[in-house]
Amino acid sequence: MSNEKIFNESKKFMPGGVNSPVRAYRGMGINPPIIKSGKGAVIVDEDGNEYIDFVLAWGPLILGHCNDTVVEAIKETSEKALAFGAPTNLELKMSKFICENMPSVEMVRMVNSGTEATMSAIKLARGYTKRDKIVKFAGCYHGHFDGFLVEAGSGVLTEGIPGSLGVPEDSVKNTLIGIYNDEKQVASLFKKYGDEIAAVIIEPVAGNMGVVKAENEFMQVLRTLCNRYGALLIFDEVMSGFRVSFKGAQNLFNVSPDLVTYAKIIGGGLPSGAYGGKREIMENLSPKGGVYQAGTMSGNPIVMAAGLSTLNQLYDHPEYYNHIESVGRKLEEGLYKISEKYNLPIWINRVGGMMTLFFSDERVDSYDKVKKCNVDRFNRYFVHMLKSGIHLPPSQFETFFLSTEHNITHVYKFIKAFEEFAKKEMD
Ligand SMILES: *Cc1c(COP(=O)(O)O)cnc(C)c1O
Repeated sequence: MSNEKIFNESKKFMPGGVNSPVRAYRGMGINPPIIKSGKGAVIVDEDGNEYIDFVLAWGPLILGHCNDTVVEAIKETSEKALAFGAPTNLELKMSKFICENMPSVEMVRMVNSGTEATMSAIKLARGYTKRDKIVKFAGCYHGHFDGFLVEAGSGVLTEGIPGSLGVPEDSVKNTLIGIYNDEKQVASLFKKYGDEIAAVIIEPVAGNMGVVKAENEFMQVLRTLCNRYGALLIFDEVMSGFRVSFKGAQNLFNVSPDLVTYAKIIGGGLPSGAYGGKREIMENLSPKGGVYQAGTMSGNPIVMAAGLSTLNQLYDHPEYYNHIESVGRKLEEGLYKISEKYNLPIWINRVGGMMTLFFSDERVDSYDKVKKCNVDRFNRYFVHMLKSGIHLPPSQFETFFLSTEHNITHVYKFIKAFEEFAKKEMD
């Protein structure tokens, strides 16, 4: 069946034809390609079109599609272990790996998605502090948990909706909205509600409003405020973990979180998630403590095998991050050159293999600046790039990713397609 046929039929059986909103390409004026297979940096759709993929399953595939070693680990494990709902040695290996490599993590609990990781971390923070309020930042996305669906990034921002229907007012009355990189505003929230705040949750390198990096000073202030008022600082590293560097975003700041959430890369392409942190806090989880959180599939053997295979490869090859950095830098430089040549204003934010090209004529360092970008231009660019064989996230407010499989040839193709767009756009 063709892309077109599959998508049209999908709309009969799945709301919007998809299982996650942004995949539907709403607002792009075209239907999404239906992807059949992927290898390395390249994916193929049902019509046989090839694309260089910069979505990479929205981040997890840092080793590219169907990495041989990961696939082998999945095959081997699946012959002897699908699921037990009982402890396995693979879970120990995964937990030990995370704890031994992440200075801020002494204990960890595996779950099945990023959403589960963040909502459980919040519950734990509330249980530990015996307080209810949380601070989240406008433009940050922490999954689809009710309490986070205010001023959220990612699909909520792309769809231009203020929040979500079906979220009782009671579920968000304890959510305070912080302004990213605005330490004065956060300080004023603490001044007013300090004794009621259980936790501050932040993407230290935001990816769900497009890439925006937190300022070092801002992070220091968050740490100081949390210490002063007895609140926990939670880094949501679902996207940035093992991505912006091996040790993630916490490696980029002189600030240590109390709890961290992971997902995406740690599942090696399978559904996964984890949250961890200080032992003193983590031991409040059931069965040790009184905060209840459970999961039939948590720590699933095949997921652990795929994740461990990915993490071990990253551990064994620190040069992979240098490769991704150098490919990213070349892409960034090439795009700026085209922007100058055709007088097409852009601003690129990139941290390692996380990157967003904003159609903006000023520096983009806040949620307000993100919202001022030229979305119509982005949409034209997106369609042009897709037709040129470059698969990007269909939104100005998302991040695209690089993998170890991306090389200079892929970069040139990207830049060439961008030049054609710039020529057309500025004519
Ligand atoms: C993707 C993402 C989530 C949600 O993870 P899911 O696995 O989609 O539930 C949460 N936080 C951040 C920072 C993310 O990028």
